[in-house]
Amino acid sequence: MTGCLFCGIARGEIKASIVTQDNAFVSFRDINPQAPTHILVIPRKHVATLNEATDAGLLGKLLVHARDVARGEGLADRGYRLVINTNAEGRAMAWPPG
Ligand SMILES: [Zn+2]
Repeated sequence: MTGCLFCGIARGEIKASIVTQDNAFVSFRDINPQAPTHILVIPRKHVATLNEATDAGLLGKLLVHARDVARGEGLADRGYRLVINTNAEGRAMAWPPG
């Protein structure tokens, strides 16, 4: 979608520190990390928030992609947490988590 920051990153028009990507998802490091490892995973297909998501299969694949990113970062055994922020009052990330 034009004007969407994440879609711009997914298309490579906006620079980001890409961690991994495939035909469905792009993961990249947060520009202002709130945790020792803070990576965003976005679908290439524009989905504004979880409220607008209609493709349950895409959501499941997103979790698998995120798991693989965590593995790639060496976090699978130590542990990690996934957060889905939805709209402006979705709680901001802070470290340590609470
Ligand atoms: Zn978008």
